[in-house]
Amino acid sequence: MKKILLIATGGTIASRYTENGLSPQISGEELLSFVPEGGEFCKTDVISPFSLDSTNVQSAQWLALEKAIEDHYDSYDGFVICHGTDTLAYTAAALSYLIQNSRKPIILTGAQRPIDLPVTDARTNLLDSLRFAAQDRAHGVCIVFSGQVIAGTRAKKERTQSYNAFASINYPPIAVIQQKRIIFYIDDGDLKAGNTLFYHDMDPRVFLYKLIPGSSGEVLKHLLPDYDALIIESFGVGGIPDYGENSIAGGLKEWRKAGKPVIMATQVTNEGSDMSVYQVGQTIKDAFDLPESFDMTLESTVTKTMWILSQTRDPAEFKRLFYRTVNHDILFR
Ligand code: ASP
Repeated sequence: MKKILLIATGGTIASRYTENGLSPQISGEELLSFVPEGGEFCKTDVISPFSLDSTNVQSAQWLALEKAIEDHYDSYDGFVICHGTDTLAYTAAALSYLIQNSRKPIILTGAQRPIDLPVTDARTNLLDSLRFAAQDRAHGVCIVFSGQVIAGTRAKKERTQSYNAFASINYPPIAVIQQKRIIFYIDDGDLKAGNTLFYHDMDPRVFLYKLIPGSSGEVLKHLLPDYDALIIESFGVGGIPDYGENSIAGGLKEWRKAGKPVIMATQVTNEGSDMSVYQVGQTIKDAFDLPESFDMTLESTVTKTMWILSQTRDPAEFKRLFYRTVNHDILFR
């Protein structure tokens, strides 16, 4: 029988109503007691490195999860992390960079409703996650939610209330789960052959600047003392405005002088960026030789940047690592 480690971290799945609203109260052992059918195909132990609404999860918790998995890696066949849904896509992307080529499955799940309610998605999501983690073919960092298995770098929370909260962006789901049946759409078993690589650091000093009509470049130089990289969420396939005064380009010159990376992303969720399409993108891309996110999700762009900054500050090496595919995160370049 497969041995699974359940890592409980809080979130709605483990929450109860208090007079101040929902907060995580339900232990990992209790979570497990709601899915006794899991005992038919796996033996599960439980740990809980922290218990938070995922609103309060940041890089310190990502590193704690990496450490918990690395410490227990040889003792288990798979890992299931119960996590709040609000920042789950960031945690899944961060773990995809911190634990690369995992030959064992590292599954993240959560729920839109607490597990102890009579009507909830929590029991299905947890049972599906255990079932998927117990598959011989499963490996790498994935999200299991609402019957879909999504690569850890490709998920986005798209709905605040409905059970199908997550979408797989610019990439098909790895598999779907229908009752007890698992149908794989992606055959990437060859990735299991590589060595599993564990990383222990991330630089959280990354600033995301979302453009709106009228955005100025003036603010960018004030960010320099506090941040090591800047991601700009541009318009459409990659348009950067130039209103004459206080241009974004002017701000970028300061970042280039400081030798800090600037990455272009798009505020459009689907189909990715391509700054070469319009003059308003290409001119600035060429002038500053900017890496762009192409089909990567914003969550992956942010956490990949944090991971790369912990590896190198060299611009050429930054670019090489940024465009190297990790856990299916990028197809175009
Ligand atoms: N606020 C909750 C959290 O992210 C939402 C959820 O889990 O669905 O922890």
